[in-house]
Amino acid sequence: MSPESLTAPLPPAPLTRLAEDEQLFHDSVLEFARREVAPLVREMDDHAKIPRALIDKLFQLGVMAVEIPEEFGGAGAAFFHAVLAVEALSRVDASVGVLVDVHNTLCINAFLRWGSADQQRQYLPKLAAGALGAYALSEAGAGSDAFALTTRAVRHHDGFLLTGRKLWITNANEADVFIVLATIDPSAGHRGITAFIVERTFPGFAVGKKEDKLGIRASSTCELLFEECRVPAANVLGEPGKGYKVAIETLNEGRIGIGAQMVGIAQGALDAALSYTKERKQFGKAVADFQGVQFQLARAAVDVAAARLLVYNAARLRDAGAPFLTEAAMCKLFASEAAERVSSLAVNLYGGYGFVKDYPVEKFYRDAKIGQIYEGTTNMQLQTIAKQILG
Ligand SMILES: Cc1cc2nc3c(=O)[nH]c(=O)nc-3n(C[C@H](O)[C@H](O)[C@H](O)COP(=O)(O)OP(=O)(O)OC[C@H]3O[C@@H](n4cnc5c(N)ncnc54)[C@H](O)[C@@H]3O)c2cc1C
Repeated sequence: MSPESLTAPLPPAPLTRLAEDEQLFHDSVLEFARREVAPLVREMDDHAKIPRALIDKLFQLGVMAVEIPEEFGGAGAAFFHAVLAVEALSRVDASVGVLVDVHNTLCINAFLRWGSADQQRQYLPKLAAGALGAYALSEAGAGSDAFALTTRAVRHHDGFLLTGRKLWITNANEADVFIVLATIDPSAGHRGITAFIVERTFPGFAVGKKEDKLGIRASSTCELLFEECRVPAANVLGEPGKGYKVAIETLNEGRIGIGAQMVGIAQGALDAALSYTKERKQFGKAVADFQGVQFQLARAAVDVAAARLLVYNAARLRDAGAPFLTEAAMCKLFASEAAERVSSLAVNLYGGYGFVKDYPVEKFYRDAKIGQIYEGTTNMQLQTIAKQILG
């Protein structure tokens, strides 16, 4: 071996090879999901509710403060760890996956990126210790066109009065801290949009109707009502009029988390399909012995692997401080479509048993659909990718 080769830098690690701490973290979250979450999945789906006791256990597990610095009670770990946690939990239950995802990749992320030193000191220890976070951008008339929002913030004494309604807000039923986007100047278009930190107890704030959904039923999705809700000036997150930046930047990262949720769903559905087809006998042999079925399973395994590569690459680019806009859009787009394909195949391969609630695959199928809708629909991801590749 030449002396140069001894001093040459190591080649970059393969994308899916986890570092020791990453592997340990992933395995402990998956073990928790199988032990603590799996027995509750059916009940949570039926009752459309995640028990508070389980949320408390998630805080104790250390998945609710992944990137919060240790001085504020967090793990001080990388974004990639949050992605691993969301994937591992979603393999068992995608509602628990998205609860953890929104708290970390949208709410805490916004505080880490945009919070002042005072805001971080005040809120991060709470968000690490048991206060759940939510992120409120969408409104009835402002979905894909999010900056058409009309929730109004008017200056009042030493703060603001917020009036309006938000729709579709994940975690709203249980959350204590909300990042809320409102406009301080409707005539300024997106340059009027401002991010506010709103606590559940602020006067004039209420959580409204809870949606009854197709999938991720246990994850709460609610309307938020603001009637001259008093928010101190100190609770403006970032600068007034720069809320559009807060929204764009957090959502760019958040959608990598949704990609991870979709990888988890796809892997969970594939695991179920593999074990079922090896057990189920027709025509005197296991269904998995038929080449037609083997090829379908092989295609599904490729879908899961490709989705995971896209998600891990986007997350690792983000942690490396490299641009990741296109990769984040690609990973969410592909992983959500892969999750739908794989979970649909799993339903088919279970036959009639795939269509009933006694088996896990119909839920994976229902849960997969949301990946193509929230944090930017598939068309919005295509728009982002097209804009980047066309220059
Ligand atoms: C379960 C759930 C949880 C959610 N959680 C949150 C949350 O926590 N916080 C939050 O702020 N929001 C949340 N949302 C809202 C979500 O982000 C929006 O539903 C999503 O952005 C789509 O907006 P929309 O529903 O108004 O659909 P629309 O924007 O009305 O879209 C309807 C259709 O038109 C297509 N379309 C729209 N514009 C274009 C265009 N220019 N080109 C091509 N096609 C287009 C879309 O792709 C879509 O197929 C959640 C939604 C759901 C269902």
